[in-house]
Amino acid sequence: MNKIAKYLNQQLIGNVFDSAPILEGYSTDRSALKITPRMVVVPENVSDVRRTVRFISQLASKSVHIPITVRGSGLDKTGADLGSGLVLSTEHLNKILEIDDHARLVRVQAGVTLGQLNSALALYGLHVPILADPRETIGALISNFTTDSAAGKYNGIYYYVDCIEAVTSTGDTIQTGRFSRHLLSQKTRLTSFEGSLYRETDKLIDSNSDLISSLGARSTIDAAGYQMITQVVRENTRSFDLLPLFYAAQGTLGIITEAILHCEVYQPQVRHFVAAFESIGAALSYIESIAYLIPEELNLYDARIFKTAAEHGKDPALFAPKFNKGYMVWVAFNDKPRKTNKKLQKCLKLLPDNAAAVMETDDNTTDFQRLNSAIVSYLNDDVRGERVPFIDDFYVAPDHLSNFLTDLRTLEKAEKLELPIFGSFSTSNYNLRPDIQLNSVEGRQFIVKFMKEFNELLKEHGGSLTGGSPEGRIKATITNQELSDEEIELYDKIKTIFDPNQIFNPDIKLGATPNATVRHIRTGYNNGVTTI
Ligand SMILES: Cc1cc2nc3c(=O)[nH]c(=O)nc-3n(C[C@H](O)[C@H](O)[C@H](O)COP(=O)(O)OP(=O)(O)OC[C@H]3O[C@@H](n4cnc5c(N)ncnc54)[C@H](O)[C@@H]3O)c2cc1C
Repeated sequence: MNKIAKYLNQQLIGNVFDSAPILEGYSTDRSALKITPRMVVVPENVSDVRRTVRFISQLASKSVHIPITVRGSGLDKTGADLGSGLVLSTEHLNKILEIDDHARLVRVQAGVTLGQLNSALALYGLHVPILADPRETIGALISNFTTDSAAGKYNGIYYYVDCIEAVTSTGDTIQTGRFSRHLLSQKTRLTSFEGSLYRETDKLIDSNSDLISSLGARSTIDAAGYQMITQVVRENTRSFDLLPLFYAAQGTLGIITEAILHCEVYQPQVRHFVAAFESIGAALSYIESIAYLIPEELNLYDARIFKTAAEHGKDPALFAPKFNKGYMVWVAFNDKPRKTNKKLQKCLKLLPDNAAAVMETDDNTTDFQRLNSAIVSYLNDDVRGERVPFIDDFYVAPDHLSNFLTDLRTLEKAEKLELPIFGSFSTSNYNLRPDIQLNSVEGRQFIVKFMKEFNELLKEHGGSLTGGSPEGRIKATITNQELSDEEIELYDKIKTIFDPNQIFNPDIKLGATPNATVRHIRTGYNNGVTTI
């Protein structure tokens, strides 16, 4: 064991590892990258996290740089949970600390997964309404500012987090909260590192007010950079909260150790409805006509996805053959049963004469499940494995979607590549999973080349490559080139206020460069089975 790992292992209750097989296990995520860390730390408690950070910070002040990358379940699609220094895994910080069912609040450690949390809350008839992979951790959902497919109805993770506790780059802990100007002035007078966070951030916001208000509109459709600085000061009350800066920060400003979240009453019965349309125009006008029903999910799929799945034996019989061309609209309602039923009837009523549709009933539930499996089958090719998710979660506004898709067809022809779109109309975040292979140099180079081309197309339509999740390493190769000098300066200053010694994930987001990233693209991609 190397000296540093051994020293830390003596200091912590938790464990430090540096053996090759363990490091290998933490060297990949859902991105196309592979970066082997120097050591893996698995803290048992917050003191372990603080000790680790303090030690690494002391080393940094002596010019020994071992960056810390926090890792939840390792499902990131941008490589933001990979690092060449110390990977700190939150897998043992997985306790649900308190559930107050009357106040509908829950306090959890950051490594609790969405699945664990919602299983526990279900016993109280509650849930946090985020529709994402149940393995995702709460710390990462905040840090990645995940826009899930139910966010159109429930507003996403931002709406549910009340406050967090985080370990700062000095190894201290802070608890965020929304403070009045009066309380803020008390905070800014503190002589601690926390005091300097409040003082410096307040000053930075004051001296960049024009730039920050110009970022305001963009921050709702673009998670790159530290755009959530726009939400630190609330316009109407002038109240101040550091929490928004942790959204989309991808572990670059601090380590989230705890969070208090609001919950909603859980309505377990969900019923679905699918309709097929020959053209995108027809699909979109139908979607617009039913959007007022506020479904839990309102998704759009290019039907070629189901055609490909059918070729692999996943043919959802009930839906074929009418559903194998054009676009499919997938709606889910999770209201009380009578209300859901009324909404489903409305969906049928608003359907144009020439469109095919199937409504979920007690008799055909398994067909709907099969349809879902068909999507999973498309994402995980039976021969080639999972399709690499490097063009996921991009944003295209509803009024641009039709023209965007026409231009996407042109790009398909130029690239000789099938690019069927799928995603959430209600959040305007979509995905493409081009079939690329990482075992050839051309395949690996294609990732950056295609992202560049695709980003140009998005820009023409006012879209964003980082709509539903931030840039990490992979997308930063493109988004970093789009930032103005003023934005780069602002984001640099935020990073320096929180992390003056650059110990937290220094080479992702702003620090990512195409050369450094491309060097880490793997030569194979096999993560097991993935869902959307
Ligand atoms: C099939 C699939 C679908 C997905 N769909 C979506 C989607 O719709 N929208 C979306 O946004 N993402 C999506 N993701 C991406 C991913 O699931 C989310 O980014 C999720 O947050 C990852 O959770 P995790 O626990 O695996 O985090 P990790 O991958 O371990 O970490 C993610 C990021 O959070 C940081 N982080 C983790 N824990 C902490 C902490 N305690 N404190 C500070 N920083 C921390 C890490 O450093 C890293 O930057 C999807 C992923 C997959 C595989």
